[in-house]
Amino acid sequence: MTNKKNLAIIGYGGQGGWHADHALTSDVVNLCGIYDILPARREVARSKSIHAYETLEELLADPQVELVTIATPNDTHFELVKAALLAGKHVICEKPVEMELSRVEEMIDLAQTQNRLFTVHQNRRWDVDFLAIRQIIQSGKMGETLRIESRIHGSRGIPSDWRGTKEHGGGMILDWGVHLIDQMLQLIPDRIVRLNCEVTHYTNKEVDDGFRLELAFDSGKTAYVEVGTFNFIALPRFYMQCEKGTAIIEDWRQNAKLVRYKYWHENDVLPVQTAAGITKTMAPRDSVTVDTFTWDRPVSDVHDFYRNVVRAIDKKEDQIVTHEQILRVMRVMLAAFESSETHQTVTFGDGL
Ligand code: NAD
Repeated sequence: MTNKKNLAIIGYGGQGGWHADHALTSDVVNLCGIYDILPARREVARSKSIHAYETLEELLADPQVELVTIATPNDTHFELVKAALLAGKHVICEKPVEMELSRVEEMIDLAQTQNRLFTVHQNRRWDVDFLAIRQIIQSGKMGETLRIESRIHGSRGIPSDWRGTKEHGGGMILDWGVHLIDQMLQLIPDRIVRLNCEVTHYTNKEVDDGFRLELAFDSGKTAYVEVGTFNFIALPRFYMQCEKGTAIIEDWRQNAKLVRYKYWHENDVLPVQTAAGITKTMAPRDSVTVDTFTWDRPVSDVHDFYRNVVRAIDKKEDQIVTHEQILRVMRVMLAAFESSETHQTVTFGDGL
């Protein structure tokens, strides 16, 4: 049996509301209350019978509170994480934890000095599409991975709030990028030797409203991560080339489709007509040389994030989202910004 931990949430907006709802149905945390800088948000909490602390100091001084989740705009995380750790609380911070590497290091050092857990809410490690790709890789059925492309496309631009401003840590590298990069580094744990990134400003001049990031690993594997917010037709969520074939997930609602070849050589292939010419190279395969099958959607429960945090606090298991991973994702995002600003490929001599 896990000892339930008493949780308080700082920031009761969209994501703070998600954490609160989640906590109310959790088997590992009790919700003590929330604090939001806006009185109106505190009133919303009270209207739902959730306790709202009047001040941040009151929340941090509550000895009942053991664990704090920070769900405020990105530029406020640093001070809030530090204050919560100094108050002796364990801390979950929303992503991206920061925009500066030295500040992430400072938070990690402080957590270690305070002997408190500190982690980042990388909830998209529980996305079923990501889990399906990971299962396919781990099953070995498709052989070694050669290349993974991970895309998320929407058409509504950046939400017209703090996410559209640089000052508050807006833009898609920091918003969706932080998730997709984290997922990719889980799928390909090899060292990164090269990275190239281009950003888009189709709907927002101040911050990136999308990006295209190419990664090369020391193993020879490559990866591509793309976020678009001005794509009225979405490309597939995942596309993976492996030694034995190809896997695709069109959309998170759909099962993965896999095509694996049985015979490579096909000497008697007949040329086919395509557009204004003929081709043997691009002649489609049939069931004689390939198997086509689907991969069932994995079972996933995002409550496992908090379950892991609570067990890690009790020293019963290691935290899933580690400090090394948090720092590595931060370094990749910073290199992506550098590449997009200089229009140069960033290389990592010893690998990242
Ligand atoms: P939001 O604007 O909906 O809510 C932020 C809330 O924080 C607001 O109610 C605001 O009044 C409050 N706030 C601002 N400064 C504060 C302070 N100093 N102290 C207390 N409250 C303060 O934003 P959001 O969508 O909830 O995003 C919050 C965080 O959650 C961001 O870091 C964002 O990147 C992250 N997020 C994560 C996910 C995910 O899936 N992991 C999804 C959405 C947002």
